[in-house]
Amino acid sequence: MNSIRPTPVEQPSGGIGRIEPLLLPRLDGLYSRRAARLRTLAEGHAMADYLHFAARIADAQHQLLKRAPLPDAANAVLDDQAPLDALALPRDRYWQQLLHGLVDTLLADATPRVRAVLEGLREASSAQLETLADALLAGRHAEVGSDRALFIWSALSLYWTQRAARLPLHASAGPGGQRQLCPVCAQSPAVSVIIDGLRYLQCGLCESRWHLVRATCSNCEQTGKLDYWSLDSKEATIKAESCGDCDSYLKVLYLDRDRQLEAIADDLASLALDAEVERQGFSRSGLNPFLLPG
Ligand SMILES: [Zn+2]
Ligand SMILES: [Zn+2]
Repeated sequence: MNSIRPTPVEQPSGGIGRIEPLLLPRLDGLYSRRAARLRTLAEGHAMADYLHFAARIADAQHQLLKRAPLPDAANAVLDDQAPLDALALPRDRYWQQLLHGLVDTLLADATPRVRAVLEGLREASSAQLETLADALLAGRHAEVGSDRALFIWSALSLYWTQRAARLPLHASAGPGGQRQLCPVCAQSPAVSVIIDGLRYLQCGLCESRWHLVRATCSNCEQTGKLDYWSLDSKEATIKAESCGDCDSYLKVLYLDRDRQLEAIADDLASLALDAEVERQGFSRSGLNPFLLPG
């Protein structure tokens, strides 16, 4: 059970000082900022082509948000534990409309290889797409394959992020408990971010952020064997927090130190750090939406 419990907005949050335990996503500028940051990071980068490609996906998400926003009717939630639990929430067909919108937009300037993937998705039946989405959300990436997963996840994330942004909730935090999973949709965090000196985990699906005290493993909540890795200096704005208890790591992005950082974009552009930490025997616990396994 997650110890950050979203509760109806009428209820008092109850005595945890000034720390906001849950920050719901703000749609305004989310995808346009990400696209712009990906393009900035692409300059002179070894992965420039892929960063530009990711920017085009973020652009397409931005356009869809304007052109085909979530219908007002889609507001039903589950109970107050993970109200948008990705494995339990009945999905509105609207998410497939988003996927088709993404496919149509990206087909315009797709390479032959990407075109083949996109056309495969366009021809898939509605039932096939639901099966793929179920597999992806349950972490069965091999059943989907990373090529298709990228586009399906981008559509699902756009759906869940809009749902999360509209939740009439705030959250209260209980002591202790497990906080590895998003209190809104129960998926894994993509990265950690430091905001106003506080550490939040950022959901890789619905983009909500939830508080977890610093110097605690985001995967197993142990505190004894943490190390911090960076490629340049102690003052680096991107570090990897590794845990010798569970042999995992998650990146930490210091948004406080560099306001230009964008969590998903900068995580993707700093894979050289992942390679170093993985060489030390740690495996990544967070999933970047642009870098799904399978
Ligand atoms: Zn989430
Ligand atoms: Zn751990």
